[in-house]
Amino acid sequence: MRKPFSLYVHIPYCVSKCPYCDFNSHVAARIPEREYTQALLRELRHYSEHEVWASRSVKTVFFGGGTPSTFQGTSIGAVLDEADGLFGLDERPEITLEANPGAVDAGRFRDYRRCGVNRISIGAQTFDAELLRFLGRVHGAEETRQALTSVREAGFDNFSLDLIYGIPGQTVDGVSRDLSQALESEPPHLSAYNLTIEEGTPFHARYRQGLLHPLDEDVEIGMAERIQRTLAQAGLDRYEISNYARTGFESQHNVNYWEGGDYLGVGAGAHSHHRGPSDPLGERWHNERSPAVYMRRTEEAGHAVAEHERPECRQAMAEHLFTGLRMIGGVSVPAFRRRFGTKPENAFPEIAGWLSEGLLVETNHRLHFAPRGLLLANELFVHLV
Ligand code: SF4
Repeated sequence: MRKPFSLYVHIPYCVSKCPYCDFNSHVAARIPEREYTQALLRELRHYSEHEVWASRSVKTVFFGGGTPSTFQGTSIGAVLDEADGLFGLDERPEITLEANPGAVDAGRFRDYRRCGVNRISIGAQTFDAELLRFLGRVHGAEETRQALTSVREAGFDNFSLDLIYGIPGQTVDGVSRDLSQALESEPPHLSAYNLTIEEGTPFHARYRQGLLHPLDEDVEIGMAERIQRTLAQAGLDRYEISNYARTGFESQHNVNYWEGGDYLGVGAGAHSHHRGPSDPLGERWHNERSPAVYMRRTEEAGHAVAEHERPECRQAMAEHLFTGLRMIGGVSVPAFRRRFGTKPENAFPEIAGWLSEGLLVETNHRLHFAPRGLLLANELFVHLV
């Protein structure tokens, strides 16, 4: 039997554009939900006839965005039914949908549950009213609390909350207050992302003009340590740089990414990756980013691939390491050697240096970050690329 894969579905529309966001998200006067859903169905049909994906079942589905909760349960259900009919969903698939407070109500959560979604990820970001305004979010803290209550009432025991830390003006105690409010809803999973100022965003323009001042690195490190300690005390173990979960509630969809598994991405700008059993490099491609171009191309050709790439060996090795090292369990050295015919430290002499500095550790043939290395991980990854 061929191995199951993960399916990512991109819903690119948002109620408004947050000034720090560099995702493929668009604000539309009228969201073309029906036309866009039809395009997703066409794309699924196209790939169901492709040798890479045909006769393989789907183990996880993730509706990401953008704001997928701008779409009704009927549209989400149509995509799930089509995926099930064409590929077959596994017996107990993990099906996640990202929802933003302020772009969803209790009835819609019930609709999502009815159509098969079994995991909700809520974009809370912070509970501080002033910081929410600074981030350009359309919701307030009360709407987040209401959304969390509705998620539970709709029968979701598997849900996650996204928080952002390192926001200019935020303090370590402020992060603690966010954590205690988040923990009131007893989430089995929580993601805490460090705010990054991405090129091309309004935040970056303000930063260049000297109008936005990032926090000191020491303060951010203090926040990261506080997050890890507080969440560990609450029974949420860190399993990836930014992700914490109770045992058994880790995001299977994201673990598949970090472990380098196959995923098919449908929707505007979505990325896909496939690697055959005897192919160390694999291939990947991504779709047209513009929703209008995406819809037109799927109508003409059944798909909307903008670029297809087969990575160089060194690039594939670097990616194997920096996605795998994001996981607290790290990467298997024998698996790396089987794939590339060499050890990680032979390919990247930096690895030997990090091992001797105590930033990386090898335990039971797995290479993983030590606590100090985790705090510096993003800086270290730059050396691999
Ligand atoms: S809601 Fe999310 S995807 Fe949409 S603009 Fe804000 S950060 Fe970006």
